[in-house]
Amino acid sequence: MHSVSRISEARAWLAERRSAGHSIGLVPTMGNIHAGHLALLERCREECACSVVSIFVNPLQFGAEEDFSSYPRTLERDREALAANGCELLLHPSTSEVYGAHPESSTSVHVPGLAESHCGASRPGHFDGVATVVTRLLNFVEPDRAYFGLKDYQQFLLVQKLAAELGFATRIVGVETCREADGLAISSRNAYLSEAERRKAPTLHRTLRAIAAQIAAGARDYRQLAAEGGEGLAKAGFALDYLDICHAHSLEPAGPADRQLVILAAALLGATRLIDNLRVVLDSSSAA
Ligand code: AMP
Repeated sequence: MHSVSRISEARAWLAERRSAGHSIGLVPTMGNIHAGHLALLERCREECACSVVSIFVNPLQFGAEEDFSSYPRTLERDREALAANGCELLLHPSTSEVYGAHPESSTSVHVPGLAESHCGASRPGHFDGVATVVTRLLNFVEPDRAYFGLKDYQQFLLVQKLAAELGFATRIVGVETCREADGLAISSRNAYLSEAERRKAPTLHRTLRAIAAQIAAGARDYRQLAAEGGEGLAKAGFALDYLDICHAHSLEPAGPADRQLVILAAALLGATRLIDNLRVVLDSSSAA
């Protein structure tokens, strides 16, 4: 595996692969590589001749009170895991390489509509940081395909919208959420959980599944279902940020006629913010 921190080196290496006719796939990450990231890499390898992973802990997507400085940085271990799993190019640029000397005053990208709701409401500026770094990475690498986890469903929709509207030729691919055996979505932030919190954490996914089962059985009072789910999470010790049942593409509140839904949730367990979602597709024969 080739490992570079300079965009110019990555571009030179990629130009050779492209001129040999190889398709290029990009998996953007913040490192601390885990099974979720490796699922993205595996899909990338299935679909592209050449797999590129970026590791960049993006300061612009962290709020002032958030965990930017303590976010786990494990480059040596990540390098081994990526090389062992068929990554061909690792790009791990510095902040100045990505943004120049003044990240806060450099050009940024805002995706109206999707950036303000849900996680965007409780993390102001977060999605502008995400949109800005993804735009830069797509420009640096010019991949044929780029892979994003459906665990971060709002982020996936936002990246799809920005790629379409800014005219990137890159196809944005969503990959199913990788979970622990007890259902907890794998995340770098799970390492922050105490043992007791870790035991409670799967309740988030279980709650979403229970709501999905009620919808599949015909329940259509989505506000009531979401409120009950939120109460259950509060009783289990979560500090709820939001639990919403939405239209799967617009993320607007779902109505009874909608067939493609997503149940989105974010909650704090102690100091750790967990997010999860479950998509529900109702076919025309579903009870209404
Ligand atoms: P991160 O390093 O947390 O920014 O994540 C990098 C990419 O991996 C994002 O597209 C995430 O949505 C994706 N990802 C993180 N955790 C998972 C998971 N458990 N399953 C699938 N994809 C994931």
